[in-house]
Amino acid sequence: MTYVDEVYQRVVDQNPAQPEFHQAVKEVLDSLRPVIEANEAHYRKEALLERITTPDRQILFRVPWVDDQGQVQVNNGFRVQFNNAIGPYKGGLRLHPSVTLGTIKFLGFEQVFKNSLTTLPIGGGKGGSDFDPKGKSDREIMAFCQSFMTELYKHIGPNVDVPAGDIGTGAREIGYLYGQYKRLRTAYEGVLTGKGLTFGGSLARTEATGYGLLYIVNEYLKDHNDSFTGKTVTVSGAGNVAIYAIEKAQELGAKVVTTSDSTGWIYDPEGIDVALLKEVKEVKRARLTEYAAARPSAEYHEGRGVWSVKTDIALPCATQNELHLEDAQTLVANGVQVVAEGANMPTTREATDFLQENKIAFLPGKAANAGGVAVSALEMSQNSERLSWTFEEVDSKLQAIMADIYQNISAAAKKYGKDEDYVAGANIAGFEKVANAMEAQGI
Ligand code: GLU
Repeated sequence: MTYVDEVYQRVVDQNPAQPEFHQAVKEVLDSLRPVIEANEAHYRKEALLERITTPDRQILFRVPWVDDQGQVQVNNGFRVQFNNAIGPYKGGLRLHPSVTLGTIKFLGFEQVFKNSLTTLPIGGGKGGSDFDPKGKSDREIMAFCQSFMTELYKHIGPNVDVPAGDIGTGAREIGYLYGQYKRLRTAYEGVLTGKGLTFGGSLARTEATGYGLLYIVNEYLKDHNDSFTGKTVTVSGAGNVAIYAIEKAQELGAKVVTTSDSTGWIYDPEGIDVALLKEVKEVKRARLTEYAAARPSAEYHEGRGVWSVKTDIALPCATQNELHLEDAQTLVANGVQVVAEGANMPTTREATDFLQENKIAFLPGKAANAGGVAVSALEMSQNSERLSWTFEEVDSKLQAIMADIYQNISAAAKKYGKDEDYVAGANIAGFEKVANAMEAQGI
């Protein structure tokens, strides 16, 4: 067995029943083979792969809160501080009933490489809970967030670990979490990102993940003498990432014809009406049936089906493992050119391999959706200097960061004879920086 295979086996054996964590580790380790093989004895002696696949620490806690009927509810809380070799732990909090320790570990592991790619000094972590924010009253959300922070605050800090939003955690939740942190610490500290603009948040943070996704695809297109003008784009999801991806795609001259949520999807051949989508999803927190009811050109379908629509560019922006092999086959048969991940690991390994075998440009989430966490790091900078930058200032930095990420992952792929393999490029470039910092800091 090679060193890479041994370490993968060790991860599987030591982390039973965490399939998404295994999947994320396997993808990274497979990409790293040429790097490791070039110097296997050294990496083995340093146990570098064992170290980088093991979180620094995993915090598990009880989150009790009282619902509107007076019933006490109990959820599981998690924070996995994966690696801080290049900066404070940084990564979002996911609130979704499917969340387990395995989900958070997969996301924390991905975050280490993503954050390394941003070119900014941030380590990787992730947290969350199996709490389901859907259908809860504002008071219930506040009660949950306050209870969650009553434990979490002991483990975080502006130079230690800086959480942010993810699925289920938006501006409202960050506000409640931040309020509780401040009450407990009696200090203003830039400890969370994605904060409201009146208390230290950054302009362009809300838009950053979606806009960044479009900036990196645009960079790829420019590099291949192409542009968004006249292209059809399909997007899955209707959350923060999807909404701003759709908005920017349209600004760049593309027509976006789909959006989806957990119960169904929309095909709108006239192009998605972003203002209406924001009204339905951000203001009313309603289902996409309301979008269809208000928009004569839109068809609503139950279940999943976004990837059956013919498109030039597919942007999965919903959740992990939402684009399967059959979807990839349909996309290729329909002539797709680019698939770029707005969500974290939305494409299964089989689907990714199929797209790459068919020479479809595939931009993995840890590069393509890094704009969100990159602007989070810019929010940390603004908090440290007690200043707020303009929207244009942040947005132009985001564009430069996404262009750098594209150049860095392309160069890393080329260096190891994997031209245009952006999965390999992202994993290798992300790894090299973290591994180098870990070695420099000793045991
Ligand atoms: N949850 C986002 C991600 O997956 C953002 C994290 C952050 O801003 O810290 O990268």
